[in-house]
Amino acid sequence: MIPTLRERSDRSQSGFGADLLEALAACAELINTGRSADGEGLREVADVQAFGDRYAFHGTAAGPKDVPRLRAHRARLDAIAVSCESGDGEAAIAMLNALLAETGAIPQIVAHDGRGPHIHVSRPAAPLADRIAAHLAMGLAELVVAGESERVRTCASPSCREVFVDASRNRSRRYCDSKTCGNRLHVAAYRARRAQAG
Ligand SMILES: [Zn+2]
Ligand SMILES: [Zn+2]
Repeated sequence: MIPTLRERSDRSQSGFGADLLEALAACAELINTGRSADGEGLREVADVQAFGDRYAFHGTAAGPKDVPRLRAHRARLDAIAVSCESGDGEAAIAMLNALLAETGAIPQIVAHDGRGPHIHVSRPAAPLADRIAAHLAMGLAELVVAGESERVRTCASPSCREVFVDASRNRSRRYCDSKTCGNRLHVAAYRARRAQAG
């Protein structure tokens, strides 16, 4: 079950707003569908639709073209995440600006479904893949502008390559999930197995 905005907000120690945290979580989720150890995710129109529905991109249906399009956007967001993590802010900014321009990002203030005014960065008429990518790119853009781009990390577990955004107060998070990857015994066992195999 995906936590609601409020739950996420309550957990945040970074001072980031709920909307930004949600965009960053969605961004990591999308990138990780391409980094997953059990094969690449996001293969069907239904996968794109499910992603859009989960993050409430109302009024836009996914079509066949959205699949390759979102996969291409995903590769670019992954490259931006890599630049953020390695401290190459200039490269991240150039790639973000290009992606925002190409996805037709345009800020609009909207209120819907009982939520007060908030900003959407795409119009319902844009392709769903572009709407999703524009929204996620905007989240990364806010992080970069705030000087916090190095909060984008790749999990330190040697058996995992998942990206996450560290929202902890002291930026000390090293694993995508403290219960699995953060378990030191698990990591140590993996290293031992690998050493044996090698
Ligand atoms: Zn909205
Ligand atoms: Zn991990």
